[in-house]
Amino acid sequence: MVRVKISPQHGKGVFATAAIEAGAEILTFTGPLLQRGQFQHGDYHLQIGDDLYLGASGKADDYVNHSCEPNAGFGKALALVALRDIAKGEEITWDYSTAIDEEDFDGFPCQCGASACRGVVASYRRLGESDRERLAPWLLPYLRLRYSRAALKLAI
Ligand SMILES: [Zn+2]
Repeated sequence: MVRVKISPQHGKGVFATAAIEAGAEILTFTGPLLQRGQFQHGDYHLQIGDDLYLGASGKADDYVNHSCEPNAGFGKALALVALRDIAKGEEITWDYSTAIDEEDFDGFPCQCGASACRGVVASYRRLGESDRERLAPWLLPYLRLRYSRAALKLAI
């Protein structure tokens, strides 16, 4: 369904080898479970918990790039699903801010090229209210839990 090749935006990327229907599962992220201090700054890592990260799997999931207007998102746990119909040959992207939520993460410049590009890839907590609301359905499970707890506290 997908393969890794050179992306015009960001080095390597993951591309659809056939049309993918909206709602279909594209791939699942896997890799060794790591905590802070167990990887270097530049090493591949995906935050999946307060102090829990997935390291490199060596497979396509290591190469899925960020976009501020992505065509995929986390629908169920660590599975990326298509947010809309994706054409054969299109690059698969997801919004990294639906996984990153570190207090001390300053973000890095975004070059996704989307017309609605936020200009920076930042922690979820640093996004504006409207972006947080828009992205809420695609958050990783640990962030759904974190922010539903926060919402409950506000409501009490
Ligand atoms: Zn962007």
